[in-house]
Amino acid sequence: MRFAITSKGDHKSDVLKSRMKQYLKDFSLEYDEETPDIVISIGGDGTFLEAFHNYQHRLNETAFVGMHTGHLGFYADWLPHEVEKLIIEIAKKPFETVEYPLLDIKIHPNGNAQPQQFLALNEASVKSADGTVVVDVLIKGEHFERFRGDGLCMSTPSGSTAYNKALGGAIIHPSLDAFQLTEMASINNRVFRTVGSPLILPKHHDCELKPLHRDRSFLITIDHHTGEYEEVESIECKVSDKKIRFARFRAFPFWKRVHDSFISDERE
Ligand code: NAD
Repeated sequence: MRFAITSKGDHKSDVLKSRMKQYLKDFSLEYDEETPDIVISIGGDGTFLEAFHNYQHRLNETAFVGMHTGHLGFYADWLPHEVEKLIIEIAKKPFETVEYPLLDIKIHPNGNAQPQQFLALNEASVKSADGTVVVDVLIKGEHFERFRGDGLCMSTPSGSTAYNKALGGAIIHPSLDAFQLTEMASINNRVFRTVGSPLILPKHHDCELKPLHRDRSFLITIDHHTGEYEEVESIECKVSDKKIRFARFRAFPFWKRVHDSFISDERE
């Protein structure tokens, strides 16, 4: 079996990376950053997002597991003192996997240029560098509302505990093939109206954001990456046909993870 390790790059994560690399090689596993069967992320959720984006082109072949070296780790759920335990589990092979849904985002530029396509593990958000975001929101091609405000966030179920949660969105179990649309400070008065509640859309419903002012630039985040886009015709979001696979070596139910991340963590 081939493995790769993504480290956050701090001293603690790098030391753990060298230890794991050596131990796994001792178990006759091959270190291969190009075509790994399993990617181990050592750091925090940001490191895990980085690992996901580095290997998003081979999601059918690669499974992920995360060890956290900081405090909170939603994706990175193994602790540094469990390193030997995790190595033995990986070396035992084959391992079980669980799949979580992803978000498919297409940014269509004005004119005939090709759309840019992205995958998100947490979310995509649309904000503006110059003033209020004004977009028509279409669901399954039908006009739903005209949004005016700071922006909109489209999150996956596993991303629902991240930015989405801070915006008042619901936490969605990742066994549901869905995504969530949440508002950021919408302008609501007698003239301007939005639904005001987060929306949860099923797999077969897509959502399209059409800017009213094509001359405005947008800040579009895909997980931890932010890009500035000009001349945007529309932004299309839907549940992706692709999924991320987590290597599962022990039961750690989603609601337990939510509890340990947000209520209290007896393990620390
Ligand atoms: P960062 O360093 O600013 O960390 C953001 C925090 O989000 C960290 O504590 C991280 O552990 C946590 N986090 C990430 N994914 C999570 C998840 N699925 N569930 C629960 N917590 C999660 O940024 P980063 O490490 O580069 O991560 C980027 C992510 O930060 C984005 O995908 C977005 O979800 C999140 N974010 C959150 C807010 C907010 O809560 N107000 C604002 C911007 C971005």
